[in-house]
Amino acid sequence: MFEGHMNAVKLLHLYDGPGARVAPAVRNGALLGVWGADGARPLRGFATGGGLRLEGEKIFASGLGLVRFAIVTLRDGIADDGPDRLALVDVSDPARQDPSAWKASGMRATVSGRFDFSGLEIDAGHIIGQPGDYVREPHFEGGIWRYCAAHLGGAEALVALWRDALATRGRLDDPMQLGRYARAVSLCRAMASLLRETARTVEAATDEREAIDAAVAAALLARQFVEEGCVEILQLAEKSLGTAAYMTGTPIERVRRDLSIFLRQAAPDAKLLKAGRLLAGASDAAPW
Ligand SMILES: Cc1cc2nc3c(=O)[nH]c(=O)nc-3n(C[C@H](O)[C@H](O)[C@H](O)COP(=O)(O)OP(=O)(O)OC[C@H]3O[C@@H](n4cnc5c(N)ncnc54)[C@H](O)[C@@H]3O)c2cc1C
Repeated sequence: MFEGHMNAVKLLHLYDGPGARVAPAVRNGALLGVWGADGARPLRGFATGGGLRLEGEKIFASGLGLVRFAIVTLRDGIADDGPDRLALVDVSDPARQDPSAWKASGMRATVSGRFDFSGLEIDAGHIIGQPGDYVREPHFEGGIWRYCAAHLGGAEALVALWRDALATRGRLDDPMQLGRYARAVSLCRAMASLLRETARTVEAATDEREAIDAAVAAALLARQFVEEGCVEILQLAEKSLGTAAYMTGTPIERVRRDLSIFLRQAAPDAKLLKAGRLLAGASDAAPW
């Protein structure tokens, strides 16, 4: 939730729009989110007098009932092929929230689900930036380093719980257990170093094409490394703890379940392919 909030604050900071209007509420603790995922009825904006009438829904919308304002991607109501716009919308109406749409076993505490925008009206003051700004680099794919940092936090929490569980059972000095534990700690440290460097590369990138491509490639490579590192840590923890890793109602089981679905973010194959193309200097790397 914090990563989504920071993503939203950053978008409001980067692009013109309702940033100043919403800043007092944010200072007073209002939580923001970014809801981009469309389902069967993609979110569209139909021009009215001086604003837009919204139709459609967002799925995978995290923070139902927690997020007060969400930044949403918005298709043009008539032309379907143009770049999406961004709008900041009040999403506090419980009647529009459907948390039952979240059927996944993990990340239940995020209260994710579906939000129906149909019939909502927004004025021009709710629009953020220009069409296409959401996917402007290096802040779109480049910004992936933020959710990777959250994945790393999940892995570190799992390793700490796993170590304590081994210690409680008097199994921490077993050579096989020590080997697995040391491997997991080394992966966490490698992920942390890589993410620190990646964050610096992305956030310090200049407007030049080369710098932007290098930043995006760095973030996509880091995403791949973090996903693989976290999956390996999940497997090591499961081997080390045996069935104890699967007991419902325990923190280890919850963290395992949460991390394994949290890693399943959008379009991983396409992201690796894009990283490869950027590294190979392919000219078609930018328009994805
Ligand atoms: C806990 C959690 C919270 C989330 N919160 C938010 C949120 O607040 N806001 C938001 O906008 N989104 C959110 N998301 C959604 C996220 O952005 C992704 O849309 C979603 O995780 C993608 O899910 P998927 O694995 O079903 O995707 P899929 O696209 O179905 O990917 C599954 C696999 O299929 C591959 N694949 C994808 N497309 C194709 C294709 N055309 N042909 C062949 N293979 C393909 C992928 O590479 C991957 O290997 C959240 C996701 C999670 C897990």
